Amino acid sequence: MTNELRRYYSDLRDKNRRIQEKRIEECERKSARFRSLLAEPGLVFQQAASGKMTFSAARSRLAAIEAERRNLLISMGYAGNYLDPVYTCPICKDTGEVGEPTKLCACALKKQQEQLLAGSRINERETFANFNESIYTDENQKKQGLGMKRFCERYVSALPHPEKPNLLIIGNSGLGKSFFGNAIGYAAIEKGIRTVKTTAYQCIQDILNGLDTRGDAISPFLNADLLVLDDLGTEAMVPNVTVETFFRIINERTSSQKPTVLITNLDSESLFERYGERVASRMIDGALTSIVLLRGDNLRTRMR
Ligand SMILES: [Zn+2]
Repeated sequence: MTNELRRYYSDLRDKNRRIQEKRIEECERKSARFRSLLAEPGLVFQQAASGKMTFSAARSRLAAIEAERRNLLISMGYAGNYLDPVYTCPICKDTGEVGEPTKLCACALKKQQEQLLAGSRINERETFANFNESIYTDENQKKQGLGMKRFCERYVSALPHPEKPNLLIIGNSGLGKSFFGNAIGYAAIEKGIRTVKTTAYQCIQDILNGLDTRGDAISPFLNADLLVLDDLGTEAMVPNVTVETFFRIINERTSSQKPTVLITNLDSESLFERYGERVASRMIDGALTSIVLLRGDNLRTRMR
């Protein structure tokens, strides 16, 4: 469980405990009998502990107090369980974990996904589940699209440590490259992997803004457990910034064994031209990177 998720459940339990306390106070205000009933279990425990009452007598007395309390609540117009502990998720009792050995409760998986999606720049529309092969009018295109989907799904299933950590998707605009990049990111988040998606343009803008504000803009790109860097080649070529940024991102992520998905219109020759040997050779390093070429017409133009 991530620290962020742990904090969420700790806050949730606090919040629900306060609701329960407020309800008890409310009943105390409304009924004198209720107030005295609240004190009685303590007295029973004392008497049982000091031997003035047998344990079985104590047990039946406690049951009677509980029954009276429930009836009193009902006569006051509340449900009999009005003062029971409040749980947002009764299954895990707001711990986020179930079973032995423990695993994340369904509510925790959902919350984790929300937390990971926020700030990831990944959308919830372009997913493998929403992949629609009918956008392909050409049989070869459809085959290529389905093959691409299978390939990307295999990559995701091997995350966080695919045999080759990096994936380079090369193809003309409008072949669904960004769709697959987003779908990979979304599926990774479903697996609980902290993912960041960005366009190269936005990435460099973030870095430039960071230079202005002296902020640390590069960390999210270095630290994400999966980075999807889309539209490589659309960013501004800022001297001493663009190439250096991509070098640092690819180099540091590779040395810390964090997977990266690169998506671009540029073929390998153009990658060398634009980013130079030092960066491009890392981008297309066959030992670390699976390279996929998407060929064919622009789907967007054909859909019109
Ligand atoms: Zn739960």
